[in-house]
Amino acid sequence: MDILSSQANLAGYKAVVDSFSYFQKAIPMMMTAAGTISAAKVLIVGAGVAGLQAIATAKRMGAIVFATDVRLASKEQVESLGGKFLIVEGAENLETEGGYAKEASEDFKKKQLELLKETLKKIDIVVCTALIPGKKAPIILKKEMIEVMPNGSIIYDLAASQGGNTELTKVDEIISNNGVTIMGEANILNKLPVSASNLYSKNIFNFINNLFDNTNKKFDINLEDEILEKTMVK
Ligand code: NAD
Repeated sequence: MDILSSQANLAGYKAVVDSFSYFQKAIPMMMTAAGTISAAKVLIVGAGVAGLQAIATAKRMGAIVFATDVRLASKEQVESLGGKFLIVEGAENLETEGGYAKEASEDFKKKQLELLKETLKKIDIVVCTALIPGKKAPIILKKEMIEVMPNGSIIYDLAASQGGNTELTKVDEIISNNGVTIMGEANILNKLPVSASNLYSKNIFNFINNLFDNTNKKFDINLEDEILEKTMVK
């Protein structure tokens, strides 16, 4: 039934495929008679559902993948996919009881800025997925951080429709800043309509099926059902 999971997973995959096809270098390491191409370095900002699929997709295509998140639980998940987790030293775990992110303190933001600014000097592609439920997306990549990235690098901002994770993101625009391309796609699922609709329709079917009594062949709406109770507009 979980629409967020089914759709965010596809978005994470497609952001990697789109940014890789825009990138003007090969992604995996290749050792050929004509010389060696080094593997592209990818940073995933936010390792939730979209971010974890982005890590898995980038790894499968041969990239070296780094990831960061404010929830410490995501470290193990990132590592299980072969990613390197960048930890903000001395920072508290910013996870709510429900498993989502809390807004970061000024101290955390400062430490995260320093850590990422150093890392970004060697990163070719960044995929941003960081969100805080019910709030505007956090600005994580400031202009000064983007400016240290190598010429030709790409930032794909999946948080664009919620304000973006970079200071420079423009919704539904591809902009260039000092040789760095920033892609702010607002509805990436439009580019995967068949897969997105297949999973979404299954989500809706399972939700409606939960309201149906298959033995007596009639709707049986139980207002105490946890799923129904939590999804109802009161
Ligand atoms: P989300 O879309 O709200 O946010 C994406 C990610 O951005 C999260 O991992 C969040 O911690 C991170 N983030 C927020 N602010 C950040 C910052 N300043 N810097 C770096 N990262 C930042 O989250 P989501 O993808 O819905 O996932 C949240 C959690 O819920 C995860 O633990 C996920 O595994 C879990 N989840 C589980 C299920 C399931 O069990 N079926 C379904 C959905 C989500």
